[in-house]
Amino acid sequence: MWAQLKGLFSNDIGIDLGTANSLVYVRDQGIVLREPSVVAIQAGTNNVLAVGEEAKRMLGRTPGNIVAIRPMKDGVIADFDVTGAMLRHFIQRVHHRKLIAPRVVVAVPSGITEVERRAVKDSVTHAGAREVYLIEQPMASAIGVGLPVHEPAGNMIVDIGGGTCEMAIISLAGIVFSRSLRVGGDEFDETIVAYMKRAHNLMIGERTAEEIKIKIGSAYPLEQELTMDVKGRDLSTGLPKTINVRSEEIREALKEPLSSILEAIRITLERCPPELSADLVDRGIVMAGGGALLRGIDRLVAEETYLPVHIADDPLTAVAEGTGRVLQELQFLKRVASSST
Ligand code: ADP
Ligand code: MG
Repeated sequence: MWAQLKGLFSNDIGIDLGTANSLVYVRDQGIVLREPSVVAIQAGTNNVLAVGEEAKRMLGRTPGNIVAIRPMKDGVIADFDVTGAMLRHFIQRVHHRKLIAPRVVVAVPSGITEVERRAVKDSVTHAGAREVYLIEQPMASAIGVGLPVHEPAGNMIVDIGGGTCEMAIISLAGIVFSRSLRVGGDEFDETIVAYMKRAHNLMIGERTAEEIKIKIGSAYPLEQELTMDVKGRDLSTGLPKTINVRSEEIREALKEPLSSILEAIRITLERCPPELSADLVDRGIVMAGGGALLRGIDRLVAEETYLPVHIADDPLTAVAEGTGRVLQELQFLKRVASSST
């Protein structure tokens, strides 16, 4: 009752500012918005024409006077103004006519600079927030999947997003060691585009590559291997063509980006203090982010690290759920936010 009444005045907001997808969590309501992190603007101006799904449909298909931008693409905030416009758009969509300005928690990539942090905070303040807290995405992800981050014990999270892969070892609500690499689902797609060109002389777009990855992609041999018809442009004739592709070849193509992720996991484990390493033997590694949905990635990581590997129940919402939990625990909010801002 009190929560509902309070909701009339103000609703605190959690935002997962992802490189591929942004999610907004409203306190007492849960995740209310889920959109691709894409903004369409009028060329040469800062006029925002569309944000999210609508803007994503324009990617690669825009006439000269419109540009569709993924402002967070490489895990750094490539375009401050566009990122700011996107944040304001999302906040305004969920926060209408409330009497009290909301408190906002934004989960940002752990690799961003001080200048970028400031830019995010300023944009959110401009959008009407009363207070802004930043939290690192791997921390939000760990909280979101329900890891006992407050305990004095080692927890490891690996979050594979679109533009980045973020991993961290967390103990006592703090990040003991973290690493962010610019390899994620987008790179998987790019590798598939290059492979189709090299092996089949077929030119495909990135959206087709993503479809191949989702439909038949894998990181570990499948019990039942899969095939798929792929349409593209034959590079020698210049004409449209369909080719049947097997999951084995796509797995081979994905080896390279996957090995960079495995390498980073190995380095993270090497840097882990021994007591926490011992904890990981039992607790293992938890994986989240859209990339954790790649078939067999848990088995690949388990085989390489000799540790148990668990995939989050809903890898795509882990970070947003984490921001939601942080909103619910004010005490915790203050502690986590002060250690990361
Ligand atoms: P970010 O946090 O960077 O916004 P997400 O966690 O939303 O990224 O993950 C987006 C990435 O996950 C994209 O590269 C997308 O292609 C990939 N992805 C989504 N579903 C699957 C799937 N079923 N299999 C493999 N990759 C997937
Ligand atoms: Mg993410």
